[in-house]
Amino acid sequence: MHDRIYSWGHSKRYNDYSNYFKSKFDQRIQKISVDAGFTCPNRNGTKAFGGCLFCDNKTFVPFYCSPDKSITTQLHEGKEFFAKKYKTQKYLAYFQSYSNTFSSLDRLKVLYEEALSVEGVVGLVIATRPDCVNKAKLDYLEELAKKYTIILEYGVESCYNETLALVNRGHTFEESVKAIKGSAGRGIQIGVHMIVGFPGEDRESIIDEADILSELPIDTIKLHQLQIIKGTKFAKLYEKSPNMFNLYEVDEYIDLLAEFIERLDPRIVLERFINQSPLDMLIAPKWGGLTNNEFSAKLDQKLKEWDVWQGKKFGTEREI
Ligand code: SF4
Repeated sequence: MHDRIYSWGHSKRYNDYSNYFKSKFDQRIQKISVDAGFTCPNRNGTKAFGGCLFCDNKTFVPFYCSPDKSITTQLHEGKEFFAKKYKTQKYLAYFQSYSNTFSSLDRLKVLYEEALSVEGVVGLVIATRPDCVNKAKLDYLEELAKKYTIILEYGVESCYNETLALVNRGHTFEESVKAIKGSAGRGIQIGVHMIVGFPGEDRESIIDEADILSELPIDTIKLHQLQIIKGTKFAKLYEKSPNMFNLYEVDEYIDLLAEFIERLDPRIVLERFINQSPLDMLIAPKWGGLTNNEFSAKLDQKLKEWDVWQGKKFGTEREI
């Protein structure tokens, strides 16, 4: 018997990023992280000091990535690193740490255009907060998107304002919606980053986020389980009041994802489901070093067992 082919063009039970990404480019594309020395309004006092309670940017910065080096040097070092693994490829410069549109438009132009001038770089991935874009910046990115791949990744984190206030996020969900809608229709790929398992969010409210996000003009979602990382404010809270947190074990998280996926609009691409912080930085939950591939295999197995696919219940649980 042949596998069913879903509306996204393959037999995987969700619209996954690697297939989507391959279909967009005619060759291998590698993201290279660059640290341009940005900060974030939630850390430098513009909105707050100290940042989001879960924030620890240090856990996801590769070794070649440092604001002491120019963007060009970081990209060259990143290219050298990946050239050992793969022969031919093009690159996207990934402005990853902190809020990478939190500067004047003039400075952004200098930084982005330096990255785009490096040989082999065909576009930018820009991670930022929804309250760090405006019309002028989006107009500029729209112009760039006529020549390059431009991906904006918004840290939305939760659709609930009570949660955003609790984690000291410094912006509301309405600001996320405004930024996403303001970015749509400009040739820019729009991604959102969400964290699953904040205190106060129960299973039903998390699954409802699939309906809420399905109504927005987003292209991709990165989800990950809440992790308690050493040195963060959540680490202190966890030490004092562990019962405040409902951290997911792997199987429980997979069940939750299966229901989330079932409710999500099939046009939205799922880019990531888990976070893998360095084990020496991680306090909880400990998943025994489970790899991305092992996790995906478990998720695929669950979707098959439950006969669930992305969008199976899209639009059925909520008035749209
Ligand atoms: S998570 Fe992002 S927005 Fe929050 S403090 Fe860290 S860098 Fe700033």
